[in-house]
Amino acid sequence: MQSMKSEELAEFRGMLKLLRARIRGDVEQLREEAFSGSEAGNDQRSSNHMAEMGSDAWDLEFALQLAATDQGVIEEINHALKKLDDGTFGVCEMCAEQGRPEAKSRIAKARLQAIPYARNCIDCEREKEKRR
Ligand SMILES: [Zn+2]
Repeated sequence: MQSMKSEELAEFRGMLKLLRARIRGDVEQLREEAFSGSEAGNDQRSSNHMAEMGSDAWDLEFALQLAATDQGVIEEINHALKKLDDGTFGVCEMCAEQGRPEAKSRIAKARLQAIPYARNCIDCEREKEKRR
């Protein structure tokens, strides 16, 4: 497989940045929802709804958990952007570790289009899943 053209790299960079912006927006929104909860705009859920308070606590936990997951994705995206700068974007990290030539370590383009922050090729990803 040939190495990627600069237009393609620019396209992936755009995708990654867009994705990051979207997730960041979502994370902020989630945090806002989680922390503003019972105070503003929830007049209908007043103190006589004790049963619902339990579920509110659960919602908070869930929202924060979601935010934490997204934070992990943002790190992956930042990592991918760094690889774009380094010129190693699209190279499978596990293949590279195993010393395979770069030409044989490329992540399939279709995979990158689906997950632009993927670190590994599909074969290595499967291998990783098996080891878990
Ligand atoms: Zn690989």
